Amino acid sequence: MEASREVAPAGVQCYETNQGAMIYRIPLQLFPMLAGYIYLVLVKNPDGRLLKVLIDTGSGYGEANQQLEQGLQSVSESARQRVSLQDLDFVLITHGHIDHFGGLTYVRTATNARVGVHELDLRNLTNYEERLTIVSRRLDDFFIEAGVSEERRRRLIEMYRFTKILYRSTRVDFTYEAVGMQVGPFKLLHTPGHSAGHVVIRLHDVLFSGDHVLDQTSPHQAPERLTLSTGLDHYLKSLAALESWADGIRLTLGGHKEPIIDLPGRLQQIRELHRQRLCQVIDLLAEPRTTAQVSQDLFGEVQGYNVLLALEETGAHIEYLHQRGLLGIDNLAQLEGGSQPTAIRYKRLTGCDRIKLI
Ligand SMILES: [Zn+2]
Ligand SMILES: [Zn+2]
Repeated sequence: MEASREVAPAGVQCYETNQGAMIYRIPLQLFPMLAGYIYLVLVKNPDGRLLKVLIDTGSGYGEANQQLEQGLQSVSESARQRVSLQDLDFVLITHGHIDHFGGLTYVRTATNARVGVHELDLRNLTNYEERLTIVSRRLDDFFIEAGVSEERRRRLIEMYRFTKILYRSTRVDFTYEAVGMQVGPFKLLHTPGHSAGHVVIRLHDVLFSGDHVLDQTSPHQAPERLTLSTGLDHYLKSLAALESWADGIRLTLGGHKEPIIDLPGRLQQIRELHRQRLCQVIDLLAEPRTTAQVSQDLFGEVQGYNVLLALEETGAHIEYLHQRGLLGIDNLAQLEGGSQPTAIRYKRLTGCDRIKLI
């Protein structure tokens, strides 16, 4: 989940599916601390026409839109045919996080492509300001119960809301379930967890995994109390669903980090990481602690946006354990007595051996 300083690698990378579709990976500097990729796909539709499809749009922050344009320019040169935003048929958004759809405000001005997103992330794109306000309020409640000081809470919420200036709510043309989870030759699977409406996209023997599965890093988790259909329980179920659905996948291309060759192996690693983290939380809660204290024990002294990420990640694990009755609340009397929101101290009710992942 850590976001350390990252620089996007230079140059467009090209891949080919087993049925001859061409995939161009365009690197973007999404935020100062975060690099990632969007993908341009050129694939023959069953009717013989060449479809030009963009998967995700980047953040729209800093140089990201120019890098997108430069990427298309260099694809035009290497594919020996013009590919500009104007020529696109579809823009498929993997999920409603700003680093994947923020560039849409810009892309929309230059394309007539039909833009799609899953139903459960639709409002992130179409009612952005509303969602930011609602989640900010829920975050503040979560921080209070997590035991975060008032001053730190104020700074974290400010940080969360800084993306407000990046994006304006934008129209979307279609949603994935409404079109049967298929767009031309692209097949989609709903994988809620990392976000509510996350999808992975399959083209022939290649999988575009968005942020559901990433190499080297474990995709960020937040408690479901912040947004319905997120949380660790949904995420782990979606990992399991993907495993059978992705049979025959040779190459997995994520929204960040490098391609994955051994997808089942990577799914297993991510599952194991969460099992270990759940165990660590149970071990730490031999003594009553708040979410903020557990977060500090798990991730150490982190700075800036990483504080928010660490708290959410810890909150997701505590929520998972508490929902299963493996943790109890130590200061229940205090919670019952006061009308003011109070920090909750959890303690373990069981050992690690009771954790059974899906
Ligand atoms: Zn994401
Ligand atoms: Zn991302």
